[in-house]
Amino acid sequence: MSRLKGVHVETHRAGRIGWLRAAVLGANDGIVSTASLVVGIAAADSGRSAILIGGIAGLVAGAMSMAAGEYVSVSSQADTEKADRARETKELAEQPEFELDELTQIYVERGLEPSLARQAAEQMTRHDALGTHLRDELGLSEVHEARPVQAAVTSAMTFAVGAALPVVVAALVPTASVALAVAGTSLVSLAALGALSARAGGASMLRGAVRVTFWSAAAMALTAGVGRLVGTAL
Ligand SMILES: [Zn+2]
Repeated sequence: MSRLKGVHVETHRAGRIGWLRAAVLGANDGIVSTASLVVGIAAADSGRSAILIGGIAGLVAGAMSMAAGEYVSVSSQADTEKADRARETKELAEQPEFELDELTQIYVERGLEPSLARQAAEQMTRHDALGTHLRDELGLSEVHEARPVQAAVTSAMTFAVGAALPVVVAALVPTASVALAVAGTSLVSLAALGALSARAGGASMLRGAVRVTFWSAAAMALTAGVGRLVGTAL
């Protein structure tokens, strides 16, 4: 009973982390790429309108590219899973003996004695042949409901929310301090997001925050350096 309850709770946690991780990743990407863009343009000694046009264009382009990428990736994963399922269903119907041997062999490779493996394969086949083959042969866990459009919209929106932060900051502070203000607010927000997602996953909040802050600072410093170089060259 308590075992069952444990499994139930873990499943819930995994589901929530999946959703939260996707949202945090989208916001992270939005902040890092747009802040880098804004800092890069500002470092080239541009005026406010150039900075804002760059930031807004980056926001829109990034959100669209996230949506397209997510749509394609979720759809193609769903197609693959559907094809796997269809093929496995057909094989189970047409050559059940072969499939039983295959499953037995899989359990032997995982460490069961042949006779026990055979018994396990027979029982699992009676219990849920298709589910067992999908899981133990193909490594597909529970069928996730693939919703490409929802995934695309979620990614685009979380990216846009993250990207809005550096754009708003760039619009509000004096032009001379845009680079510093955008870099500072972005790094603080990124650290908070990193800590939040680490906490949700049960990992160290500090390590989560430091890791994301370090790499984001590196991205912004690099873009600022390139912006300055290009700015002087032009
Ligand atoms: Zn099979």
